[in-house]
Order: sequence, then C-alpha cells, then structure tokens
Amino acid sequence: MTDPQPAPAAIVENLRRVRDRIANAAIAAGRDPESVTLVAVSKTKPVDAVRAALDAGQTVFGENRVQEAAEKFPSLRTSHRFSLHIIGGLQTNKARDAVRIADVIETLDRPRLADAVAAAIAKEHRTPTLLIEVNTGGETQKSGVSRDDADGFIDDCKGRFGAALAGLMCVPPAGEDPRPHFTWLADRAARHGLGTLSMGMSADFEIAIACGATWVRVGSAIFGGR
Ligand SMILES: *Cc1c(COP(=O)(O)O)cnc(C)c1O
Repeated sequence: MTDPQPAPAAIVENLRRVRDRIANAAIAAGRDPESVTLVAVSKTKPVDAVRAALDAGQTVFGENRVQEAAEKFPSLRTSHRFSLHIIGGLQTNKARDAVRIADVIETLDRPRLADAVAAAIAKEHRTPTLLIEVNTGGETQKSGVSRDDADGFIDDCKGRFGAALAGLMCVPPAGEDPRPHFTWLADRAARHGLGTLSMGMSADFEIAIACGATWVRVGSAIFGGR
C-alpha cells in the first residue's frame, strides 16, 4: 500500500514541520539548528513533488538510484539551484553517471567503487563531495563498508580524494535502537577528522541529531509513504 500522492500544499506543510522538528532537536542537543542540513529524499516521487519542495525553498535532495536521479533532476538545473545527493548503494558501472549528475555521493563503500569514482572524476572534470557508507549493523543485504574495514577504507579514500572526502553515512538496521550505530559513526568520524555525519531518516532523525548528525535524510515525513 502506498499513500496517495500528497498535494504540493501538503509537501510544503510537511517540510515546515520537519524543519521545526530539526531545529527543536538541535536546540535540545545544545546545537545550532543551522548545523543540521535537511536532505529531502524524493526517491519514487514524481518531479512535481520535487518542484513543490524547491518552490518551498528546499535546496538539498537525495535519490537512491542514479537512473531515477538522472531522469528527474538535471532538467531542473536550468530553473533552480539545488544540491543532489546519491544516497543508495552504487554499482561501479553507474559511477560515471553519478559523478556527472550528483553534487554528493554518500555511498562510497569499497575499493573497486572508489577506483570507478576516481576514474569518473578524471573524465568528467567534476568532483562531487564524497561520504563513506558504513554498514554498522553488519547486514549482508546492505551496502556499506564493514566496521572492521572502515578505518583502512577511510584512510585509503582520504589519500585518493583529499578534502572531497567529507564524512560518513549509515543506515542502522530497521527495528533496532539506532543510537549505538549513530554514536559509533560519530566517534569514527571524529577520530578521522571528518566533519560530515549523514544519519537519521523519518523515523529517527531527532535521535540522530542528538548523536551529532549534520545531515539528515528524510523522505516519507515530507513526501508521504512509498
Ligand atoms: C529512503 C531512504 C531514506 C529516507 O527514508 P524515510 O524513512 O522515507 O525518511 C534515507 N536514507 C536512505 C539511504 C534511503 O534509502
């Protein structure tokens, strides 16, 4: 079952509510609300939903699939300024398209993908901001570098990508307390001097902010269920 497509006015109202909740969570954590960026996750939603959010002043978007992002976003660049994040596991054969269309790739997770992204950056003369996804729950079906391999991969990517490597991202296992996953990721980023922490979704972004998230990726609370 998917919810009916929310009307533009509902998207605007949902955005307002999510922004308020982000600000309140930041203040409750003793943080500056401006230190948290809302990434509006528009996967599976039509471009009209994206336009409604853009018109409401939302400027940062996340898409899971490169193909879908390529269909929805590039044509909007002529009329709008925004930042597009790829947040889904990336196949190496999609790396070049991702580098071409995205401002941020949040899901570097293995050396072969890092190779493909580095080659694409050289060919496209364009360097997106990069995050490393960590599979903090060790789930076999999920993308992300394992906790054990994280330090080595982070060092490797720092060497290759320099300052373009901005931080870490995770998606904790569904139905588990996300806190230990968020705190592990925050600790790991701090140890490596990485300032960006992408964690928290519709169900848990306030907890993520309490744990130090600088980017929260929120889909259904803005655009409705999928
Ligand atoms: C879909 C998705 C989100 C947003 O999830 P919601 O629960 O709809 O907020 C965030 N991050 C990733 C990686 C996703 O795939």
